[in-house]
Amino acid sequence: MDACTAVGREIDKVLSKFTSYSEHASSTIASLRNNIESLQSEIDQVGSGDITETQAVILSQAIGRVKEAVTRLSTEHRDLHSSVSKVGKAIDKNFTADFGCISNDSVFSGEKQQLVNEVICQHFFREGLLDIAEEFISETGLELQEESREPFFELNRILTALKARDLGPALQWAEENREKLRSQNSSLEFKLHRLAYINLIKEGPLSVPQAIEYARIHFTPFVYQHEKVIQSLMGCLLYVKGGLENSPYADLLSPHQWSEICDVFTRDACALLGLSVDSSLAVCVNAGCTALPVLLNIKQVMQQRAVHNMWNTKEELPIEIDLGPSSRYHSIFACPILRQQSTESNPPMRLICGHVISRDALNKLTTSAKLKCPYCPVEQNPANALEIFF
Ligand SMILES: [Zn+2]
Repeated sequence: MDACTAVGREIDKVLSKFTSYSEHASSTIASLRNNIESLQSEIDQVGSGDITETQAVILSQAIGRVKEAVTRLSTEHRDLHSSVSKVGKAIDKNFTADFGCISNDSVFSGEKQQLVNEVICQHFFREGLLDIAEEFISETGLELQEESREPFFELNRILTALKARDLGPALQWAEENREKLRSQNSSLEFKLHRLAYINLIKEGPLSVPQAIEYARIHFTPFVYQHEKVIQSLMGCLLYVKGGLENSPYADLLSPHQWSEICDVFTRDACALLGLSVDSSLAVCVNAGCTALPVLLNIKQVMQQRAVHNMWNTKEELPIEIDLGPSSRYHSIFACPILRQQSTESNPPMRLICGHVISRDALNKLTTSAKLKCPYCPVEQNPANALEIFF
């Protein structure tokens, strides 16, 4: 953001210079033109004969003035160039143009390209950009099963309706998937009914009997799960006459309820379809943006110290980057002895004393079929160690 502000400042300077230059230039040109036009009309009045000596002097003075003004304007214009080039320098200074050195092209090559395309395509589907997704599929030649698109169409249709404050399609979907939603402990259906109820009481005192009827039918199955919320939804009826917006229940009318229901629907529907809540592409891009400054810094340090061979482990970054709790998905194990992350070929092994080290470390520490735990005095047979799966 600071980078954008810095460049923006330079652009503002250039724009203000351009404006003042253009004002100055047009006023100068206008006054010169007036001058010449009046001279011309004077000469025309004389007729076809030669111009007088005085007129010749005035004319040559005018020509001199024009030349001078043109020179001045072009000098001023040249000065503008330095301001414009300052913008370019500010961009170079504040933004890194060369990210090539911190990427590893082989990661995206071969059959992985297909996976990347699938992730991009899925993102378009999730975002409801169906026409872009179709275009992307035809351009990349991606082979996508019709069944894999279908759920997204439905999700988008329902979400679009929800955003337009139409609860119908979402309620129908929630009712159709009631059992599955219940098994994943979802409160989506109740929340949708709650909003439908709030919509009714918003209409004023006349709709109260209808709202009570609605509550009686639709809240009953949720009484045990959402007792407190239902109590407060009933309590708010007392204030409908005086206006809910001036009551302790004013938050029921907040537009936040609608953005929340969209989030709840996306989360629960994705879980039901076996999809992650966030688009994989968005997660990758966000993680990349967080990691980029750190990687650029380490690249600079590596260049300064002429260390080039530090970053050649294919699947691992040269340093650990904390992307925050929202980006933590899998537990990883780093061997406390070798200080290496475990891999499939070098998995974590649990010793009989309970301590865990990597298989490589276990092999290295084993002498004549015996292993002494590096953390406690227990001696054991390395064959008794068990592989741990996360
Ligand atoms: Zn031990």
